[in-house]
Amino acid sequence: MGEDHDHHHPAERTDVERRAAALEALLVEKGIITTEFVDQVVDAYAHDIGPMNGAKVVARAWVDSQYKERLLEDGTAAIGELGFGGAEGDHIVVVENTPTVHNVVVCTLCSCYPWPVLGLPPNWYKSPPYRARMVREPRALLTEMGCAVPASAEVRVWDSSAEVRYLVLPQRPEGSEQASEDELAALVTRDAMIGVARL
Ligand code: FE
Repeated sequence: MGEDHDHHHPAERTDVERRAAALEALLVEKGIITTEFVDQVVDAYAHDIGPMNGAKVVARAWVDSQYKERLLEDGTAAIGELGFGGAEGDHIVVVENTPTVHNVVVCTLCSCYPWPVLGLPPNWYKSPPYRARMVREPRALLTEMGCAVPASAEVRVWDSSAEVRYLVLPQRPEGSEQASEDELAALVTRDAMIGVARL
């Protein structure tokens, strides 16, 4: 019985899926894009572009203090050094968590997000409650999301826009002194780079 729900029959497409399919068909028909192009983009965001890119940036910053300096000075350029950039990443600002500052990112207007380092935004990031409440009552919302920020730390909320996207540089976890850069990257989560989790 429950099995039927897990299967994905074309006949059971959701409203959004039908709209996406209709738009794709129309754009292909008009010669604006090809089906192959759509497949390439979807594939890139499924396999090559995602939080694993941001995790590499964070790990590099943790092991290389000069890289970290460049990253905080000019995020876009330093991220480009690792080969990441492109759509929705023209101007990325990296904000650093410290024992006294916890940064968190939101887009109050819509869903702006640093695609080259985090991939596509999760649904909750685009939801009206998140967008409204992260500005109005960040500490309460963070607590609800399981992110306990020490009372001694100031919470700074960064509002993304089409011009500027933010990436949080989390604090390096205690006890990770011996870890290699790759091992460190494996510790970094998407949510920590949005600022709704701590490592
Ligand atoms: Fe936006």
